Amino acid sequence: MPCFRCGARQNDPVRGASPWRRGVRADRQVLACPLCQLADGWDAELDRCARCGSVALLCRLGEIECRDCGHTREAVREDRPAEPFPVDPGLAAEVEAALARVLRRRTGV
Ligand SMILES: [Zn+2]
Ligand SMILES: [Zn+2]
Repeated sequence: MPCFRCGARQNDPVRGASPWRRGVRADRQVLACPLCQLADGWDAELDRCARCGSVALLCRLGEIECRDCGHTREAVREDRPAEPFPVDPGLAAEVEAALARVLRRRTGV
């Protein structure tokens, strides 16, 4: 499973003390890479435990379980495809500009 923020993949999964953190976002299990955890508000998009506010949630068997206090709730799963990873707007603009350049060259304008 890639990082939910940057899409990086865990290259050497270690058992136990992995620097990657698991969380739940929109009732889906996600992973956050060690680098993204350094960013301010990296967990702002994650679901939080209704009881203690922790983001240390696990999604399994249709339930969201808090690893800090043990609170569980039913996962609200909608029948819709998984959301794509958020696209970096800067990168999207760059790609668009590059495409526009190519198109201009082709049409000779
Ligand atoms: Zn990341
Ligand atoms: Zn909790």
